[in-house]
Amino acid sequence: MRDRVYRSEAIVIRRSDIGEADRVLTILTPSGKRRVVAKGARKTQSRLAGHIELFTHTILMLAIGRNLHIVTQSSPLDRFERLRADLERIGAAYYAAELADRLIEEESENRRAFELLLGVLRALDAGASVDLTLRAYELHLLDALGYRPQLHECASCGAVLTEATNRFSPAAGGALCPQCAGADRQALPMSLPVFKLLRYLQVQPPEMAGELRISSTTCAAAESLLRAYLRHILERDLRSLAFLDDVRLMQHPDASASIRALNGRHFAQGVDDERN
Ligand SMILES: [Zn+2]
Repeated sequence: MRDRVYRSEAIVIRRSDIGEADRVLTILTPSGKRRVVAKGARKTQSRLAGHIELFTHTILMLAIGRNLHIVTQSSPLDRFERLRADLERIGAAYYAAELADRLIEEESENRRAFELLLGVLRALDAGASVDLTLRAYELHLLDALGYRPQLHECASCGAVLTEATNRFSPAAGGALCPQCAGADRQALPMSLPVFKLLRYLQVQPPEMAGELRISSTTCAAAESLLRAYLRHILERDLRSLAFLDDVRLMQHPDASASIRALNGRHFAQGVDDERN
């Protein structure tokens, strides 16, 4: 017979309310994504409440329930307190968690995806560049989940790409050689510095991203391309992007104006992970 209670390392990637006082948590664990319930977690006297906040890296004790498994105890390993003191980093963490939530299927084991999310939270907490940390995370998470964009061979004909490459096609799944680029009207322009940056981030360990010094123009263009690619895969924008964009607009009006222009987006709704 299976044990009734088990222990799991987890990162809380989403929370929603259910019933009178309970919370449903979506957790990412080394053995996959799962929805669990924390009973009574919204009561003011709940001991559990402070230990199951978003992004918390924790050890959970879970009881096997008939439907959702039940959190009986949470012993946080890291709450990423420094990250929580900075709005832009909170926005980046929301985004990293939402991206994992959208891309990863429930109950499909993927230790690398778990470690990538843990790595991005640690890097954001340690003060690494928000932009480059997120770009490296996107590229590596896409790779871990089978969506690796092609940046070394043409996504259409397979020819080895040279520095003459200047188009990226979300639909084709990567960069295009000059011969194929003409035939793909949806392909997006990609400058040589952006092409080089993406290739570098894709093959280097993600933690190397924080060491780079890259112009804000190149960062914004790389962000825009990956956003277009993710939009193609997910068939929509993530809700957390609007929050992240808003925060950046407040904190760095010049840099975010260029990102906003590149993405042509509206700043409608903020993010609210407490609901939905
Ligand atoms: Zn080609």
